[in-house]
Parts: sequence; C-alpha cells; structure tokens
Amino acid sequence: SQPVLEARAVSKHFAAGRSTVRAVEDATLALLPGRIVALVGESGSGKTTLARLLARFYAPTSGEIRLHGEAVQGKPREYYRAVQLIFQDPFGSLNPLHRVRYNLERAVKLHHAVRSKADLDEKVVELIERVSLAESYLDKFPHELSGGQRQRVVIARALAVEPKVLLGDEPISMLDVSIRLEMLNLLERLRAEDGLALLYITHDIASARYLCDDIVVMYAGRMVEGGPKEDVIADPLHPYTQLLIDSSPDPERGDRNNLFDAEDLGEPPSLIDPPSGCRFHPRCPVAMDICRTQAPPRTELTDGRWTHCWLQEKK
Ligand code: SF4
Repeated sequence: SQPVLEARAVSKHFAAGRSTVRAVEDATLALLPGRIVALVGESGSGKTTLARLLARFYAPTSGEIRLHGEAVQGKPREYYRAVQLIFQDPFGSLNPLHRVRYNLERAVKLHHAVRSKADLDEKVVELIERVSLAESYLDKFPHELSGGQRQRVVIARALAVEPKVLLGDEPISMLDVSIRLEMLNLLERLRAEDGLALLYITHDIASARYLCDDIVVMYAGRMVEGGPKEDVIADPLHPYTQLLIDSSPDPERGDRNNLFDAEDLGEPPSLIDPPSGCRFHPRCPVAMDICRTQAPPRTELTDGRWTHCWLQEKK
C-alpha cells in the first residue's frame, strides 16, 4: 500500500545565537496504514524534532513532508485531522480546568458537524470506551486521574478527529512501569481496529521490539539504520545499532524488572558542531579514514533493510 505520511530528505536546523543546531539531517521515512514503525534513539538524537516536523509544528529547513503522496505546504486544516501527535507528558496535555468530557467534546466539535447534544454525547462515550475507560471518567478532572488514565484520555482526544496517523513521542516513558505494557497493547489494538499508521518514538529498544513492525534508528540527528524489526534486532548492520541492542535488556532472557529501561550508552555528541563525516565515528570501534570526512550514503539492502555505514558500501 501507499504511504500515508512521508518525510523525504528532511533536515531541520535551528539558530542558537551564532551557532546552528543541526537537529535533523537528511531524514527519510514512510508510514504505511496499519503498520507500526519505531523510531529509536537516545535523547538528543533528533527523534522528537522529527516527530514535530511530521506533525508540522515547524517547517523543514530542506526536504519535503508528504501526506497521501502530496507535498505539504504550511499546515492545512486537513493535516490536523490526518496526523495527531501524542506527547510524552500526559500531565501537560489536557486542560486542567475542565472535566474530561469537555476536553473530548471540544475536539469532537472542532472537527465534526455535530447534529445534536445526543449526537455529541454518543460520540464522547464511544471515544472513552475505545481507550478502555468507563463512562464515569468523563466527569472527572485531569488531576483526579493517574498518568496512565490521562494518557488514555489524550489518546481518546486524538481519535476524536479520526486520524490516519498517530505519532507517539515517548508516550509511555513517564508512566508507571506496571502500566506501560497496557498502553502498548492499547496502541496495538487501535492500529488493528482503525488501520492507523503509527510512529512510536522511544529511547528504549525493548518496547520497540514488543510493539513495532519496523525499526528506524537515529543517532545525533541522522538515521543510521532501518528495516523489519526481527531482522534489525537479530542482525544489526550499523555499529551503533549493535551497541544499542547489546546494552538493552532482553525480555526473552526474563529480565522483566528493567524491561523498558535502557542502559546508559554514554553522551551523544552535541548537535551544534556534530562530528564530521559519520557522526558516530568518534565512538565507532571500526571507524575508517573515510568515516571521518564523508557522511555515509544510504545503502539499500534486500527485504526492506537499509543503513548509512561505509562498511556496507565497501562490501
Ligand atoms: Fe563506523 Fe564508519 Fe560505519 Fe560510521 S560509517 S558506523 S564510523 S564504520
């Protein structure tokens, strides 16, 4: 099937005093209906910037965002309906002065021609039930809800506009470890029911492994590798992906207590003056001369796999 949403060679630079933050460089990504892509990287890897570019919070410095195959200019109204972004912090996402019912009604009314009060009520009840909360939660205030319940309400509100794409920016990382799995299962169910295209952004490869179909790995503002989950995890091509997988606990080994806690991988480089050539070269155990001067191009392999690493180019 055709991608719903695509980033094509997208870069985003921010001015910071006299310097430039090269937050995202040359990112290419396609989201397909009914498929979950995990975008994995440490903090400072550019993944949140990429999510915000995809949600058109800001325009790319270069490159293109395409919705249903068409390049997007500005932020058309249609875009709000099609693409919804869920933030990490469910506490800041809801209007604290209003009950859940109002928060949901507002989203419904903004995007639908509501015929009657009964019509609106029905819609709102349907939304809260879709995220597995009882109708009684509609009359609660956000501060009366747990983090997990709030995140469910935030998701219900996103669903009010019947989006085609959900972008989840670390949607479980601020939640209690005990309910993270439930939230992932909810996302999985919504994908199956609505055929949503889902981008799941995380620093944690274990949750990506649990939820997604495909994995894309970012490092220091650049994509380094992508492909079907099983292949990338079983046989990572890029040295950084190898490091990420090696330092993550494996749920198959029964290491359930830290299932979603990545180990410290060391400091990622600054994006103000990122390393030349391959941005991973200062930490790469197999770096070659060319890695220090030239950024590796995207190498496409078979079965949907690709990477940016001179090792693959030289094969
Ligand atoms: Fe290492 Fe070079 Fe590959 Fe970068 S391009 S990951 S430095 S081998």
